[in-house]
Amino acid sequence: MAKMYLVMLGPPGAGKGTQAKEIARQLKLAHISTGDLFRENLKNETELGKLAQSYMNAGELVPDDVTVRMVEDRISRPDCERGAVLDGFPRTPNQAKALDDLLGKLGSSVKLVPYIKVPDEVLVERLSGRWMSPSGRVYHAKYNPPKVKWIDDLDGSQLYQREDDKPETVRHRIEVYNEQTSPLIAYYQEKNLLVEIDGTQGIEKVTDAIMKAVGEV
Ligand code: ADP
Ligand code: ADP
Repeated sequence: MAKMYLVMLGPPGAGKGTQAKEIARQLKLAHISTGDLFRENLKNETELGKLAQSYMNAGELVPDDVTVRMVEDRISRPDCERGAVLDGFPRTPNQAKALDDLLGKLGSSVKLVPYIKVPDEVLVERLSGRWMSPSGRVYHAKYNPPKVKWIDDLDGSQLYQREDDKPETVRHRIEVYNEQTSPLIAYYQEKNLLVEIDGTQGIEKVTDAIMKAVGEV
């Protein structure tokens, strides 16, 4: 069977991670989040983690070459046998070209790019209320609260706020997105792969809209 690769596109806080997890679960694909991979490396104090840390804390992008190598390694693992939902990658035109080459070598290509559209003022509120579980599960203080405050519903671990979700860093990350990542909207539009999703709807409505678009490919 042909492999399926989806690219979740959208600004920080749009809901890429939340949706990527659910879409990957429903379609039985791997979920590849470059942000999660970098955070894992940071926690384990690997060389890659040490390199990424200063960029992440400043809300800047980690250089393309290391990011692409990390994805290349991840995408060749056995759990990507049926394909993957890419979340937070690509983030620059260079990364998008590298992904095309990489998938081309595997005899495949990107099948669909759900672009989750949310206005800037909503993003700041979403990110300042984002609560993370060490497992990578994502909650929101108001929009997706855990059953018990600051506690993960499934494994009981302590939730935390990301260092880079502070308002100053958030504003910079949105600028970085507008400058370096938003050109990908046109890139994928030209390839006829982009489908615009209204990200201001409730979480389940957004999932339904993405699944509907996947069904129409
Ligand atoms: P991204 O991966 O694009 O940065 P996340 O999936 O981490 O975004 O979501 C950012 C925050 O917004 C999280 O706290 C999440 O629970 C919340 N969120 C995600 N989707 C929605 C939605 N449709 N409505 C309200 N809040 C949402
Ligand atoms: P968000 O979900 O809020 O958009 P991520 O978790 O995807 O944030 O990314 C967090 C940080 O990790 C980014 O600000 C950046 O420093 C780094 N990062 C993640 N993905 C990439 C990428 N594809 N290229 C470069 N840096 C990345």
